[in-house]
Amino acid sequence: MARIVMKFGGTSMAGTERIRRVARIVQRQQAAGHEVAVVVSAMAGETDRLVNFCREADPLYDPAEYDVVVAAGEQVTAGLLAMHLQSLGAKARSWLGWQLPIKSDDAHAKARIEDIDADALIASMQSGEIAVIPGFQGLSPQGRVTTLGRGGSDTSAVAVAAAVQADRCDIYTDVDGVYTTDPRIVAKARKLKSVTYEEMLELASVGSKVLQTRSVSLAMKEKVRVQVLSSFIDDDAPAADTIPGTMIVSDEELEGLDMERQLITGIAADKNEAKITMTRVPDRPGAVAAIFSPLAAANINVDMIIQNVAKDKGETDVTFTVPGADLARAQALLEAQKEAIGYYRLIADSKVAKVSVVGVGMKSHAGVAATMFRSLADRGINIQAISTSEIKVSVLIDEDETELAVRVLHTAYDLDAKDEAA
Ligand code: ADP
Ligand code: ASP
Ligand code: MG
Repeated sequence: MARIVMKFGGTSMAGTERIRRVARIVQRQQAAGHEVAVVVSAMAGETDRLVNFCREADPLYDPAEYDVVVAAGEQVTAGLLAMHLQSLGAKARSWLGWQLPIKSDDAHAKARIEDIDADALIASMQSGEIAVIPGFQGLSPQGRVTTLGRGGSDTSAVAVAAAVQADRCDIYTDVDGVYTTDPRIVAKARKLKSVTYEEMLELASVGSKVLQTRSVSLAMKEKVRVQVLSSFIDDDAPAADTIPGTMIVSDEELEGLDMERQLITGIAADKNEAKITMTRVPDRPGAVAAIFSPLAAANINVDMIIQNVAKDKGETDVTFTVPGADLARAQALLEAQKEAIGYYRLIADSKVAKVSVVGVGMKSHAGVAATMFRSLADRGINIQAISTSEIKVSVLIDEDETELAVRVLHTAYDLDAKDEAA
């Protein structure tokens, strides 16, 4: 017998038929003798719909009230799944975020889970009841509802799994695992048997939205066994324990698991980036700090940064990227500081995309970046900025060339599926 946390995403919960299918998958796990808790997302599209209502109410809405509105989507699916389970004859009940509670900080709309009181949950699971928990929501120290940022149900699931010391956290979604790149963009993408926490963390943070980044860092920290698999399976399909999804594993585990791994594990693209170039910034100590300090104070994340070699006049151009959603704010802040920073022009461009290649193999192999730059150059794709980490190389390119770049790189690193026709 194992203790399992199962998480179902928006597409898996979209409507009565799908929830019924989810209920059958959950019940089968319990019938196999396991203790089960389920974390659910809102129905696909529902959170977007609720966010729009907030924007229509007030473009500068109060984030605390936004959380009250958007957390509602998950409340609906949690109650519905509990009903479906009951109608299959299972014992089930919902536990809302404030009831457990799932304690978070008070950073509304992007709250972090701090602690989960799991005693009641464990008791309920041990008594044979299936616990259904709405993902994405928490409770602030002030007793108000919070949400964990878009895609946050993955993080709820991992946090619950850590709190109840689950043997496994199964993330059921609309694809049957983590692929070498988004299988909806590249038909030749290959499913990975396993991927390390470190690689998954990089992939998620550079745009593979199959798992929320925070869920991966939490799983890594709490050593939660995470598996990604499809909820679109037949009733007579084998149990989750034997379905070949993708396991997120430690470096050591990987060694023995996957002998056919390539140098590059995956490729991700992120179109939600924007580029800012500031020309003729004075080339002296403190100039760059004057640019980035106001952005940091406004909680705007800067990602790629390039400072050109100073020209003879003691001036330099500085280029960097910020999240597209923060571009207008960043621009306004920097324009307000024009005198203080002393630059000449600010040029903003939101038609850019960041394409990244990720793989632990990079640690011990040279030439990964060179292959990337050469393959893109051969297709006439211009690189506007570059950043690297130990296991990742990212380039910034024109947004219109995103899909082409991902395909070209997928082929260049020999990741294309061999037997399936594209
Ligand atoms: P859910 O609603 O189940 O949380 P998401 O839409 O958040 O599902 O995540 C699943 C989607 O992630 C897939 O439909 C796929 O398009 C996308 N995706 C992006 N990169 C990858 C990848 N490398 N492997 C698998 N799926 C990916
Ligand atoms: N429903 C939320 C969202 O769409 C959380 C989630 O599905 O993970 O972002
Ligand atoms: Mg998701």
